[in-house]
Amino acid sequence: NHVTPQALQEFLTALNEEIHERADWGEVADYIPELADVDPAQFGIAVVLAHGTVCSAGAASKGFSIQSVSKVFSLGCVLGRIGEQIWTRVGREPSGSRFDSILLLELEKGRPRNPFINAGALVVTDELLTGRTPRDALSEIIGYIRAAAGDDDIHIDKAVAQSEEKTGDRNRALANYLKSYGNLKNPADYTLGTYFHQCAIEMNCLQLANAGRCIAGLPGAPMLLSETRARRITALMLTCGHYDESGDFAFRVGLAGKSGVGGGLLMVAPDRASIAIWSPGLNETGNSRAANYAAERLAQFTGWSIFG
Ligand code: GLU
Repeated sequence: NHVTPQALQEFLTALNEEIHERADWGEVADYIPELADVDPAQFGIAVVLAHGTVCSAGAASKGFSIQSVSKVFSLGCVLGRIGEQIWTRVGREPSGSRFDSILLLELEKGRPRNPFINAGALVVTDELLTGRTPRDALSEIIGYIRAAAGDDDIHIDKAVAQSEEKTGDRNRALANYLKSYGNLKNPADYTLGTYFHQCAIEMNCLQLANAGRCIAGLPGAPMLLSETRARRITALMLTCGHYDESGDFAFRVGLAGKSGVGGGLLMVAPDRASIAIWSPGLNETGNSRAANYAAERLAQFTGWSIFG
């Protein structure tokens, strides 16, 4: 499946046009007021190939709120800090429920099903916070992302964080519920504040695709993850990266990806490419409608499905 950079670039340019012609954008997330103001009719894509060539199209350098895509990096960070011990606090099974569901937490006695649903990500952030101030924990997460992207110009959008802080009652419920089971070590407000800020990191597709190189195992990527950990994070992205649409994404696209309610999608084709797609309009499951469509088209064009 050798795809030349030139053929890929032509494909991406045509895909960007196709997405705008289709104009099937979906609705922006409005439960975070600051995200409700974003124009849904936007699309960007960036692909970093194994030898370092970057192809992109559309609004690939426009910043967006990475939201849940940050959970891939906070997981990388916590694995670096405490290693496999994190799995005593969070599982590795798809949830089959909404991203902010509280249902399984009761059934599983406060151990969230995986690190990519909100409850699981709260546990990961809580672990990163242990023994540190929220400011230091955030510096660690953002420092990790900057190192992965090879770009220091990545920042937190404070207005988005504050906006979520005001309306984050469901996340607050999840944190308190975790606490009641003894699976939150820090005051819920500290963990939540750190989590909201981590989700409010702003990046563009070019930065995000670069940050994914270490997960895709591309040569020359910053040494942030061992091969085993990169492979395992990829497995979790495939099985749990799209909330209760993860099975469908694997079925249609056949690549590991992590989505966020800001409309971002980080996708990896192991040893081949790291891909970032953004379009803020979402479908009913909270995944980007146009990014999902583009991911499917890209996988068809490149033949990069991990299923052959
Ligand atoms: N900050 C968002 C929340 O906790 C992230 C959700 C997401 O991107 O899936 O609701």
